[in-house]
Amino acid sequence: KQPLIEVRNLKKHFPIKKGWLGRTVGHVKAVDGISLTLYKGETLGLVGESGCGKSTTGRTLLQLIEPTEGEVLYEGRNLVGMKPSKLRPLRKELQIVFQDPYASLDPRLTVGEIIAEPMEIHRLCTGREKEKRVEELLEVVGLSGYHAKRYAHEFSGGQRQRIGIARALASNPKLIVADEPVSALDVSIQSQIINLLQDLQEQFGLTYLFIAHDLSVVKHISDRVGVMYLGNIVELADKNCLFDTPLHPYTQALMSAVPSPDPLDKKERIVLKGDVPSPANPPAGCAFHPRCASCMDICRTERPVLQERDGHYIACHLYG
Ligand code: SF4
Ligand code: MG
Repeated sequence: KQPLIEVRNLKKHFPIKKGWLGRTVGHVKAVDGISLTLYKGETLGLVGESGCGKSTTGRTLLQLIEPTEGEVLYEGRNLVGMKPSKLRPLRKELQIVFQDPYASLDPRLTVGEIIAEPMEIHRLCTGREKEKRVEELLEVVGLSGYHAKRYAHEFSGGQRQRIGIARALASNPKLIVADEPVSALDVSIQSQIINLLQDLQEQFGLTYLFIAHDLSVVKHISDRVGVMYLGNIVELADKNCLFDTPLHPYTQALMSAVPSPDPLDKKERIVLKGDVPSPANPPAGCAFHPRCASCMDICRTERPVLQERDGHYIACHLYG
């Protein structure tokens, strides 16, 4: 297994501004010290409730948002703080598919123009060659060449997401961050898009960071899964390992909320106390401690670090 991306202690803190002077009165710690490795050709799923920092992690990793701290090594080169002239040629290899296929496609452009945009930005091809490539890409995602002349609003949600995927593929990426690519779609359409993403991964040797809040979607597509809580990864493991033996109390609670397809499986649902605290003011120690049934004294003061045991990463004092 060769690493494609190594993320080290990645942080994104957004300032909270108050008053007409815009004085900074605090920070939202959207991403607060994430480390992970993405291996070539794998799908790493990232799950957690909304607001836990999944999307910010994806965007910060791609340098669409500037990180506050940390390193993102892409094939050994640190993207953080890299000169724009050096970063620009790498950007075409790092693409994103957005959650909302309605909002993410420009209504003033034809589908062909939308898909051709990355080719123009990165000066990959022009003229007839570009047109041919657009037609190819439309067919690769299950649409047709003649769709290029039409506008995105003429298509259904699933078809629009195919257009978004074609756009992401246009610059021959190595990594695609898929940020909840099916959450806005009908359940009946979701599996079509997931299957398409899997086919494309095989065809083009893509690496995916697949962000979702739906555990069943993540379970289906991922090789490994990371669980996020309040800007941190609390557990990360091989998919089967994580779903069969979740170790972190938060992961256990998340999993217990998913109905089992086996009617004889009478697992108990773990109901978490309270809401997710604000990332502007996360609890001290383990950020999960106010909601954790296993909370110990040390949990209130010391933040557990992510530690590895046989490829299973866990940040919890129960496993010190
Ligand atoms: Fe619960 Fe403590 Fe583990 Fe946090 S570190 S999940 S509070 S047991
Ligand atoms: Mg999000």
